[in-house]
Amino acid sequence: MDFHGIPLVKVSRRGANRLKDGHVWVYRSDIADANGIAPGSVVAVVDDRGKSLGAALYSSASQIAIRMISAEAVKDLSALLRKRIREAIAYRERFVGDTDAYRIVFSEADFLPGLIVDRYNDLLSLQVLTQAMDTEVARQAILAELSERLAPQAIIERVDPRVRELEQLPERSSSLLKGEKKSTVFTMNGVRFHHDALEGQKTGAFLDQRENYAAAAQYARGEALDVFCYHGGFALHLAQRCSKVTGVDSSRPALEVADRNAELNGREIEWIEANAFDLLRDYASSGKQYDTVVLDPPAFAKSKSNLETALRGYKELNLRALRMLRPGGILVTCSCSYHVNPTDFLHVVAQAAQDTHRTVRLLESRNQAKDHPILLAVPETAYLKCLILSVS
Ligand code: SAH
Repeated sequence: MDFHGIPLVKVSRRGANRLKDGHVWVYRSDIADANGIAPGSVVAVVDDRGKSLGAALYSSASQIAIRMISAEAVKDLSALLRKRIREAIAYRERFVGDTDAYRIVFSEADFLPGLIVDRYNDLLSLQVLTQAMDTEVARQAILAELSERLAPQAIIERVDPRVRELEQLPERSSSLLKGEKKSTVFTMNGVRFHHDALEGQKTGAFLDQRENYAAAAQYARGEALDVFCYHGGFALHLAQRCSKVTGVDSSRPALEVADRNAELNGREIEWIEANAFDLLRDYASSGKQYDTVVLDPPAFAKSKSNLETALRGYKELNLRALRMLRPGGILVTCSCSYHVNPTDFLHVVAQAAQDTHRTVRLLESRNQAKDHPILLAVPETAYLKCLILSVS
């Protein structure tokens, strides 16, 4: 079925209700047969009575069969993508400050599902996560708008091979799409960081923690331990306030960058390469004490199915950290697993506090930085939790 040449997708009542609530996804089980629709097409979406629900991007591979991009019909995808990118840039101009590194496009939260764009000073790093954003039309529109608006020295594409495989997209490697510059220095909250566009995790840094770094630094004191420190995001901020800072990570390449970052900022920080679980166990049992501890582990719950194991992992880490804090200490504890909701996370930390017989007060319950907007109608856009706690 099509509508003026645009393929039509009929969604079930359940799917339509989800869209009416403002969500932008419809699962494959909620659409009628979509055989013959080309991967990555723009489709017109209708309910079971044929009433229009807007336009979406179609994936032939994902369980999320369609992602809405407009409440109206879309005749010119290129023009729509360019407009959405301008809107995303305007949002950051209004709400993001004190940094030249931030997320410019956050997928669904900017009505650009399947596209991530991060700015690191004069470099842009993009990630394509869906068939639709991988089409030539989309790629050209995205590159043209980003180049015209932001005039970066270079645009780099970061490829997640697993995502491409899941979307049944041909293999591709990370590469420069425009320009030649591959490394730069960016500054957030007055702290400077080396950035190598083709190295590291995500697009290179955990920009979502930017506001939490600054908040943590406000409360930090004494001797500090940054566990899962990566390039030293928290550690470098804590060093503004603390007498001694130690960062722990299991990745040597990450710690090498962290060390270069410390030097760039004229800070002395001790970096330890270790498995955080082992190190915390050893430190806690040998009676080592700190005044500030940061826990920012990788996502333990990658899906709902390992939620229980993930919660046990968080509990164990928080338990050990609480044991190591001197009275009057500060615990900054994070979780970036979407599947662990804020209530569960708070509960796990409360249980750890109970088990250690510590009195723990919540100073701040935080989430991701404003350049990673949370769209109220799309709960999946809210994933980062950061609690700042006073421990007596
Ligand atoms: N706090 C960091 C981000 C941490 S990401 C920041 O703000 O930039 C998670 C980090 O945990 C990664 O650097 C990864 O190398 C590290 N990691 C993963 N498993 C680990 C383990 N078992 N022990 C120590 N580090 C680990």
